Amino acid sequence: MASVIDGKKIAGEIRENLRQEVTWLRETHGMVPGLAVVIVGEDPASRVYVRMKRQACETAGIASFHHELPGDTPQNLLLELIHRLNADPAVHGILVQLPLPDHIPERVILETISPYKDVDGFHPFNVGMLSIGEPLFPPCTPFGVMMLLRHVGIDPKSRHVVVVGRSNIVGKPMAMLMLAAHATVTVAHSRSHDLPALVRSADILVAAVGKPRMIPGEWIREGAVVIDVGTNRLPDGSLCGDVDFASAEKRASWITPSPGGVGPMTIAMLLSNTVKSAKRVHGLPT
Ligand code: NDP
Repeated sequence: MASVIDGKKIAGEIRENLRQEVTWLRETHGMVPGLAVVIVGEDPASRVYVRMKRQACETAGIASFHHELPGDTPQNLLLELIHRLNADPAVHGILVQLPLPDHIPERVILETISPYKDVDGFHPFNVGMLSIGEPLFPPCTPFGVMMLLRHVGIDPKSRHVVVVGRSNIVGKPMAMLMLAAHATVTVAHSRSHDLPALVRSADILVAAVGKPRMIPGEWIREGAVVIDVGTNRLPDGSLCGDVDFASAEKRASWITPSPGGVGPMTIAMLLSNTVKSAKRVHGLPT
């Protein structure tokens, strides 16, 4: 039976450490890390995420600057806001909540955020830095996965990591971070042949697909580590991952639940990237 990786608890510890660090930065250097969060439109899930991020900032002592714009905001007004935030010395991180309304191209917006305030790590500059193994800001969800593994003492070095999913926000950066950690990496996606065989070959499986319980326990190799990034809402309103937890935990050595695994780490890493950015601006080691 697998040991369960308690992401909620680990994220809580990281957030408490950050709170203490922020207090120290304020008391010794008179500085307050600041995160600007921009949301455009009424998407209910996005609003929940933004509220959670704001509360997390407050608890950690990070200043949060909240910008809520109507869904019909023209692109140029959003760009103007981002330019203002880029120039604002109180803002160390800028997060534009995705998805954006259809009339605003995500790429243009993400490229306008200063790479030095891009705490989500989505700017092409940071994508490039990640691919050469020197990210200014590793994207929060895959970074959270690396921290979970580190926390429970699992080193991906020389292990075969299979990442299912190749999105720009999870699958691809996950693969890059695993490569940087000296894993041998396979990335599977919707056109991959024989997914069960690929999953069976994993020492460490990272599932980031977005399909409820699509990976059954029988596909998991005995003793594998299973990281489930998937967060899927079922018709009854409950959440579940991409992996069938009940059958997978019988074969895995370690497993994350979903919810309560990777999800809480994403916000903790966002706070961590914001504090890192503030320290960099003030010339402190990061
Ligand atoms: P995307 O929809 O952007 O990407 C899904 C990926 O899964 C694609 O690469 C797709 O392949 C692949 N895929 C789809 N169907 C299959 C299949 N049958 N077999 C193999 N691969 C398949 O999703 P995201 O990466 O944004 O998110 C993935 C999951 O992670 C979601 O459940 C999301 O909610 C969750 N998530 C959780 C976060 C958190 O915990 N904080 C943060 C971000 C995401 P192709 O490229 O070929 O289409």
